[in-house]
Amino acid sequence: MTTRADDPWDDEFERCVAFHGHACPGLAIGYRAAKAGLGWLGERRAADEEIVAVVETDACGDDAIQVLTGCTFGKGNLIFRDYGKHAYTFLSRSSGRGVRLLLRAGGPPRTSAQAALFERVRAGEATDEDLLQYGKDQKGRIQEVLTRPLEQLFVLQEVHMALPPRAILGDSRPCDRCGEMTMSLKMVERAGLLLCRGCLAAEG
Ligand SMILES: [Zn+2]
Ligand SMILES: [Zn+2]
Repeated sequence: MTTRADDPWDDEFERCVAFHGHACPGLAIGYRAAKAGLGWLGERRAADEEIVAVVETDACGDDAIQVLTGCTFGKGNLIFRDYGKHAYTFLSRSSGRGVRLLLRAGGPPRTSAQAALFERVRAGEATDEDLLQYGKDQKGRIQEVLTRPLEQLFVLQEVHMALPPRAILGDSRPCDRCGEMTMSLKMVERAGLLLCRGCLAAEG
């Protein structure tokens, strides 16, 4: 897709779409949060672990956070807290500053026709015509998220949060039950045995 300079659906959003697999309003929310967070911190994408992102739900927006901030699951500087909130926190290791963006309620409500359409799509009962209309509706919702004034989209709070330690590459040893090599730091002692969490979970 070619983008115009004034089009909020820019190349960076396209990169998020490519990574995520589809364009959706949730991805646009993550895109706005990441841009706002980086802007607030005055940082660019984290090449290594300069920025830490904390996400409070596992949803579409997290993929835009990873693409734009460079905070990734693999690097350990994307922290997931399973709170079920659309809230994104960005922390800078160099400045020690942090900001949390919490999505405000709102946005354009679905009309009853749109809600019915959404249900048909979700139930897998959509016709080709439905899907075409749904695509248009989604595009409209995405554009709305991309253009809504930031303060109407998020509540922004400065935060002071203890930074998680940088990734530690600890030594590994075999679990006393399954024998699989496991990072010692992640093992738990139980009745004189050092067990991996997999074995511990199986024990109940
Ligand atoms: Zn999505
Ligand atoms: Zn084990």
